Amino acid sequence: MNIPKTSFPRIVIIGSGFAGISIAKGLKNKEVQVVLLDKHNYHTFQPLLYQVSTGGLEPDSIAYPIRKVIKGYNNFFFRLANVEEIRTEENTIVTNIGALEYDYLVIATGSETNYYGNREIEINSMAMKTIPQSLNLRSLILENFEQALLTDQYHERDALMNFVIVGAGPTGVELAGALAEIKKGILPKDYPDLDTRRVQIHLIQSGDRILKEMSEKASQKAEDFLEGLGVQIWKNTRVTGYDGKTVTTDTDVDFETATLVWAAGVKGVEIKGLNAKDLLVGGSRIPVDEFNKVKGHNNIFAIGDVACMQTEDTPKGHPMMAQPAMQQGKNLGENLVRLLENKPLEPFVYRDKGSMATIGRNKAVVDMKNIRFQGVFAWFVWMFVHLFFLIGFRNRMVVFVNWVYNYVRFDREARLIIRPFNRNYSAFKD
Ligand SMILES: Cc1cc2nc3c(=O)[nH]c(=O)nc-3n(C[C@H](O)[C@H](O)[C@H](O)COP(=O)(O)OP(=O)(O)OC[C@H]3O[C@@H](n4cnc5c(N)ncnc54)[C@H](O)[C@@H]3O)c2cc1C
Repeated sequence: MNIPKTSFPRIVIIGSGFAGISIAKGLKNKEVQVVLLDKHNYHTFQPLLYQVSTGGLEPDSIAYPIRKVIKGYNNFFFRLANVEEIRTEENTIVTNIGALEYDYLVIATGSETNYYGNREIEINSMAMKTIPQSLNLRSLILENFEQALLTDQYHERDALMNFVIVGAGPTGVELAGALAEIKKGILPKDYPDLDTRRVQIHLIQSGDRILKEMSEKASQKAEDFLEGLGVQIWKNTRVTGYDGKTVTTDTDVDFETATLVWAAGVKGVEIKGLNAKDLLVGGSRIPVDEFNKVKGHNNIFAIGDVACMQTEDTPKGHPMMAQPAMQQGKNLGENLVRLLENKPLEPFVYRDKGSMATIGRNKAVVDMKNIRFQGVFAWFVWMFVHLFFLIGFRNRMVVFVNWVYNYVRFDREARLIIRPFNRNYSAFKD
């Protein structure tokens, strides 16, 4: 990997998501050598992926070059690498570009889509966890309409214009809202020769309310907003299969669709070696103590979605969200410096700053510690918070200008099939 050996202890960080970037910033110009590894050369701002999928934003505006983040940091090295194995006895990681020894290892690999072992759904559904996946979904949505123009079979046309989203957390809710707005504001103009009133958006949830991590009030309001936009919500309904044509459920309702978006769960990204099955807890997460130290290891830490810190308040670990990831990264950065200075470590304490989701134009729900609100003001707060946490001045400006433009013009101009998604449509033919 061509990383020089120095007298400084080497800290290897796997992953430059919210957690990895946060710890990297905390280790800037400290007396350590830091090697940051990621299989992408950019950081992804995942909360806005749904806007890429629905043509509201270009992918570049929610991605940021990792090398630019660490520009000017002393003793920092970035390598574009996929980490394949951790050899704990040798204090070494193995990647597709070679092996590297570490003094301290920080695992910040985040999470991936969880299909709960259902291979059929995994193969046939669309995920929205990365930028390439979001671009695939954007292409598929647009290709479906192009395809719908070509058929004279009603059932085929309906299946192409039916969108089924599984999982009514923030991702599912935000995507459903965005699709509903496209149906209302863009499709009738783009496809005047198609009866776009027949477009259906179904949001399926196994539990008895949407946005179940938020307050009852937020759930109810979000449901009202979505129904007002024409989204059909199916609660207490569990999807059991999807063969690429029909979504089956555990109720007597089935859906014919060319597009199933799976937003029903995530699990920690596993790496061979450390993540032996007996070490992982629910959702393939790595159990850590209050200092984010991996149980049974003195020099390995895990932060962010992949880490599970079980406390009295968080028996299932912290929510797999950006805030805990960033706060853990900051805490661990400070703790590693303390460790090297032989000072006592500070346990991690999560400060919940609240959660929010947007449903569409002028519609959002916000739950903060002492205050909850919904509607237009919530929508402005949602926009401000997302702009604030985006990395890079250019990205903030581009996103802001796009949002203003989309708001004023009722438009989403990034509805482009740049890289076609090769969907096999033959199943819908008679
Ligand atoms: C569509 C969507 C919407 C979301 N909306 C919100 C929201 O509104 N609010 C919120 O708080 N949270 C939201 N989240 C969750 C939030 O994005 C995650 O909790 C957060 O990204 C976790 O940060 P992390 O650093 O642990 O992981 P990530 O940000 O996922 O970063 C992990 C990094 O590790 C890299 N990596 C993984 N495996 C390897 C490997 N083997 N080798 C090298 N590199 C590797 C990846 O490329 C990635 O860069 C959303 C997530 C998604 C998918």
